[in-house]
Amino acid sequence: MSYSEAFSPNYITARERFRSASSSLGYQNSAYPIEQVSPTGEELTIDVAIGGSPYPRRTVVISSGLHGVEGFLGSAIQLALLEERQPIVALSSDIKVVLIHALNPYGFAWRRRWNENNVDLNRNFLLPQEVFEGSPKDYPKFNSFLNPISPPSQFEPYIIQALWLILKYGMTTLRNTLPVGQYDFPKGLFFGGHAPSKTQEILSSNLPQWIGNASDVVHIDFHTGLGGWGTYKLLLAVSATSDSCSRLTQRFGSETIEPNSTEGVSYQIRRWALLSTFAKSLLSIFL
Ligand SMILES: [Zn+2]
Repeated sequence: MSYSEAFSPNYITARERFRSASSSLGYQNSAYPIEQVSPTGEELTIDVAIGGSPYPRRTVVISSGLHGVEGFLGSAIQLALLEERQPIVALSSDIKVVLIHALNPYGFAWRRRWNENNVDLNRNFLLPQEVFEGSPKDYPKFNSFLNPISPPSQFEPYIIQALWLILKYGMTTLRNTLPVGQYDFPKGLFFGGHAPSKTQEILSSNLPQWIGNASDVVHIDFHTGLGGWGTYKLLLAVSATSDSCSRLTQRFGSETIEPNSTEGVSYQIRRWALLSTFAKSLLSIFL
């Protein structure tokens, strides 16, 4: 199979291929409905395939589609892993592999970033002491531009407005204001929700059993849309001074690694509360 063949034309096909490939390798499959349907009326599910040791010391979690439409890439990588890289995934005696397919099946099926409630799921996983309130201080300044209540007229071309905002505030300010998440504009971009999403409920209930007793967990969550065309980066939830960053830089090269900071192609990110609860040593990788 060429890598381009790993891409599926839609969510339903991607899910069927994921289920078929993982079950044929003997992975344990589960499907978790989110109580929504696809454009053609099928039930939408988050699918999980688990392989390897039931008593792991280390667990690898590979997830796709948190941002809906970005699931086309993540699903293709999961399928390629299952179909062609099986010896890599197949496993020494103390490793467990957890593949989570379509964390946002509604967005995947309907080809949108957000879930069924306009929630950006990467902004929905708050730490226990955090609340679903507030916005970056500059977000209200951009709200009318980002979330217009009517189509722009020919006298207000989008590109001119965008350039004006970039000139006025600078790209770094914009990058660290807009995508970091907000909780005050339910119809706006990067809305993190007012409560835990269905996806978060499913993960909260099941992650402990999926991960098992592993002391070390690596989580890779595939996304698309940042950086140059055809390039990739490993975005870390840890800082440049951490031991994890040094180790990964040695392993993959500094060009590939981007630690958590306000510079680079990404923006400052949060660590997922759920996973950090369950692992002593955790590397979460998000975009
Ligand atoms: Zn994304």
